[in-house]
Amino acid sequence: MDVDNTLKTGQLEKNGKHSGANGSLVRVRDLEVAFSVRKGGGSSGRKGLLRAVNGVSFDVKKGETLGLVGESGCGKTTLGRALLRLTPVPVRGSIWYGGREIQDMSTRDFRDLRGEMQMIFQDPFSSLNPRLTVGQMLGEVLAVHKVVPHGEAKKKIYELLDIVGLNREYFNRYPHEFSGGQRQRIGIARALAVDPGFIICDEPVSALDVSIQSQIINLLKDLQRELGLTYLFIAHDLSVVEYISDRVAVMYLGKIVEIADAGELYANPKHPYTKALMSAIPLPELGRRKERIILKGDLPGPLDAPKGCSFHTRCPEAIEHCRSVEPELKPLSGEKGHEVSCLLYE
Ligand code: SF4
Repeated sequence: MDVDNTLKTGQLEKNGKHSGANGSLVRVRDLEVAFSVRKGGGSSGRKGLLRAVNGVSFDVKKGETLGLVGESGCGKTTLGRALLRLTPVPVRGSIWYGGREIQDMSTRDFRDLRGEMQMIFQDPFSSLNPRLTVGQMLGEVLAVHKVVPHGEAKKKIYELLDIVGLNREYFNRYPHEFSGGQRQRIGIARALAVDPGFIICDEPVSALDVSIQSQIINLLKDLQRELGLTYLFIAHDLSVVEYISDRVAVMYLGKIVEIADAGELYANPKHPYTKALMSAIPLPELGRRKERIILKGDLPGPLDAPKGCSFHTRCPEAIEHCRSVEPELKPLSGEKGHEVSCLLYE
C-alpha cells in the first residue's frame, strides 16, 4: 500500500493529539444501554427494560486494536453504536474520547468530534447509497465535513482510492458494479475520508469469502500502522479477532466477562464461557485435537437474564453460589491486564 505522504503526515499529526491523560483514546465507564420493550411482543405485553449493555467498563489505548467477541445478541454491536451516540441515550455511565466526555456534549460539539470516530459496517452494500458513484459518495463526505476545499476534492478522492487499493478508474462507478471485497474497501475509504482517529469495525469481514477476508484484515492492519489508527474490532470469528487484536474483551449478555492481551487470553482463558469459545477454534496442526466444550441451551434473552451470574444456566463449572451472587470484573492476581468476572477467581 502506498499511502500518500500528505494524507499520512496530516493524519498522524492529528491522531497524535487525541489520547487522554493515561494514554487511553476511548474510556468507557459503567455504561448501560437499555431499550423499553413489551415482554411477549405486541401492545398488551408487560413493559420491561431490555439492558443490551449492562455496566460495561473498558479503555481503548491509542494505536491499539481492542477485539470484542461474543455470540450474536450479546450486545457487542449495541456497545459499538453507543460509542458513536447511535443508540438511545445510555441509562447510566460515561464515554470519554481523547479526554472529553461525549455523553453530555451538545449536538453541535459532538458533530465536530464525530468525524474523528468512524464506523465500518458488516454489510458494505446496504451502507452505500446505490444511486451515488464512488466519487459522488466520497465527495459528499468531504463536503459535509469540510475536509478539503471543493477544488481539491477529486485529488483527495484519488488519494483515498489509492490508499484502500482501488483503481482510480472506479471514481465513476456505482456500488452494484463492485464485488463484496471492493465494496468493503469503499466503506473503508469513506471512513478514512474524514481523517478519523478511532474506527469501530463492526463485523467488517463476516460477509466476505475467506480469501477476501484476509485481504481486508491486512489492509486494516496496514492502515493502522501507517495512519496511527485505533480500532474497536467487533466480530464473532475468534481466529480473525486473534490475528488483528492487541487485546480482546469477551461479552456475554451485555457484560464484559473477561479481558486480556490477545496472546494471554487465547493461551490461558479463565472464564468458563471464554474457555468454551476457545475450545471451538480448530487447531491448525494436523492430528492435534482439543476437547470441545459444548454449552447447554441457548443464550438467554436480555429480558430474561438469570439472577446471580448470568452465565450460570449454561456454565459447566457453576457452583451453588453462582445462582445468587453476581460476580464483578476484577483483575486476576499476578496477571497484568487480565480481568475476569467469575466467582471461581474471587
Ligand atoms: Fe460459571 Fe459461576 Fe463463574 Fe459464573 S461465576 S462463570 S456460573 S463458575
